Amino acid sequence: MKNFKTIEGKNIPYPVFFPDSTHAVLKTLDSMDIKSTHTPGILVNTYHLYRELGEDLFDKFGGVRPFMNWEGAVISDSGGFQVMSLAKKDGLDGRITDEGVTFVDPKTRKSMLLTPEKSIDFQFKLKTDMVVVLDDFTPPNATHKTARDTVARTVLWAKRSKIAYEKNCEKLKSQKKPYLLGVVQGGNYMDLRIECAQRLKDIGFDGFGYGGWPLDSKGNFQYETAQIIANHTPKNYLLYGLGIGKPQDIVALCKMGYQIFDCVLPTRDARHRRLYVFNAKSMDDININKKDFYSYFVPDKDIYKDDGSAVSSACDCLLCKNYSRAYLRHLFKINEITALRLSTIHNLRFYSLLMEKIRQQEV
Ligand SMILES: [Zn+2]
Repeated sequence: MKNFKTIEGKNIPYPVFFPDSTHAVLKTLDSMDIKSTHTPGILVNTYHLYRELGEDLFDKFGGVRPFMNWEGAVISDSGGFQVMSLAKKDGLDGRITDEGVTFVDPKTRKSMLLTPEKSIDFQFKLKTDMVVVLDDFTPPNATHKTARDTVARTVLWAKRSKIAYEKNCEKLKSQKKPYLLGVVQGGNYMDLRIECAQRLKDIGFDGFGYGGWPLDSKGNFQYETAQIIANHTPKNYLLYGLGIGKPQDIVALCKMGYQIFDCVLPTRDARHRRLYVFNAKSMDDININKKDFYSYFVPDKDIYKDDGSAVSSACDCLLCKNYSRAYLRHLFKINEITALRLSTIHNLRFYSLLMEKIRQQEV
């Protein structure tokens, strides 16, 4: 599969990176700003949108896309990651059973049960291009037994999600079906990852996601696990690196056949004065096969006070085309919100350029 196909019939060439638009907004930007960065799609968060807005609003608007006036692709997550972290936290009365996850909302103290079926039904209300099944997150450092239990429940929930998905698809008229993504759990136990992938394959999905926490206790990326999942994913399936977004990890996973990525990194880093820049003189000069193909620009030093140059000469974003490093440093220094907007726009353009270069340079 060479293109990500939206339910509205758009084709977006792989690989794609979708920034995390958790509450149906990328902080400090509006949908036109996102479009200006050549970002082809976004990821929205099922748990937060359900909690903040409920189902009826999306019925009224016809999905999350018209609600935020966004024309690009949209993926929704299952809500599982947020709910699991709430449910597994002490003191919040969280409970995970085969039925689903019961958790207490930390703000309202109201109890709520998220089931695999509810998650799929709500994602259909959002009318996203890919829906993700609810899975039981394997905690980092889990014992083999705990990890095996999370795989068993992930498979059980995946079966029920598939039934809920098919029921929702029957109700669709002319609209295309969204992709259905299964999530491979099992922590760092390769036997469990393989077993999970095989059992999910028997249920049948459009693609697999690399589930769980991708870093080891020392913060190293688990490339071996990513490779094992890729090796046990059918050739006609999509491969999705859930929450994976460091540029070097994206390049490495693309080499293994991963095509879809989402992450909070570019937007969160932008708000913390960390701008991604290619180590290149111009956009043509960018070479992602070089070991150190990018670095960070942090506009907090006095040497930038009168620096009239652009943040990056290998970027064509609103910031780099129009403003100097000195001006950006000044905006940050006075805590002006425009600094966050311009930096976020720049980082998103870095990621859209990164994906363009991966396609061109066929890593
Ligand atoms: Zn730029």
